Amino acid sequence: MSWRVANSLETLRRQIDARFPARSVAADGSIGDAAHEKRGRDSDHNPWYGPGIVTARDFTHDPAHGLDIQQMADQLLDSRDPRIKYVIANRRIAVNTSWQWGPYEGANPHEAHFHLSVVADPRCDESQNWSLPILDEAPDGGGGDGSAGNFVTWGTGVNVRAQPRLDAPVVAVLSGPTRVTVSCQTRGDMVNTAGRSNDAWAFVPDLGGYVTNIFIDHPDAWLPGIGEC
Ligand SMILES: [Zn+2]
Repeated sequence: MSWRVANSLETLRRQIDARFPARSVAADGSIGDAAHEKRGRDSDHNPWYGPGIVTARDFTHDPAHGLDIQQMADQLLDSRDPRIKYVIANRRIAVNTSWQWGPYEGANPHEAHFHLSVVADPRCDESQNWSLPILDEAPDGGGGDGSAGNFVTWGTGVNVRAQPRLDAPVVAVLSGPTRVTVSCQTRGDMVNTAGRSNDAWAFVPDLGGYVTNIFIDHPDAWLPGIGEC
C-alpha cells in the first residue's frame, strides 16, 4: 500500500531539521512498523486516514543538540495550533480538547522521543510553518546574558515601536536575531503572538523605541534586573 506523511508533519520535520541540523534521528519515525511500538490498529502511525496518510510523527530527544522534547511539547500545547490532535512526552499525554498534560499509561514512556498526532481531517495537510519560539530562537551561543541590559531578540520582522502600544508608529524593524541593550521596561498593550501573551515591553534607547518582551530571548515575561521605565 502506498502511503505518505501528512504535510503539516513534514513542515515540522523540515523546521526542526533546519533549526537543529546536528540532531539525532535515532528515535524518529512516521509509519507503523510491526517490529516497533507503533504497530496496533489504533495508532495514528498507520495510514488509515485518506487512506494512505500517516497522521503521526515521532521526534528524537536530543537536548545536547538543542531538541528538548519537553520544551518542544510544551510549546506545541501553548501554540494551540488547530492541526494538533495530541502530544505525548515523558509519560504524559495532552489532547486538543483540554491542552493539559495528564498521565500516559502506554507501554512506551516516550522519554527518548515525543509523539505528535495531527487531526484526521484536511487540516493535517496544511503546510504553513509551526509557530514555536524554540524554532525561531537565535542559535545557541548567540544569546545575551542579561547583564547590563544585554539581550538578544529572536524572530523575524520584529517591530520596534515609538510607544509600548500596538498602534504606535514603527521606528525600526528587526529582520532577524539582534543584540540589543534594554534600559528599562514597562507595561503596555497586551501582545499575543508565537503562542505567548505578554504586556511587558522593553525600551531600547539605541533603536529609539519599544520591543515586546515576547521577542526578547529570555524565559521570563518580566526581564530580571531591568527597572521599570
Ligand atoms: Zn509515536
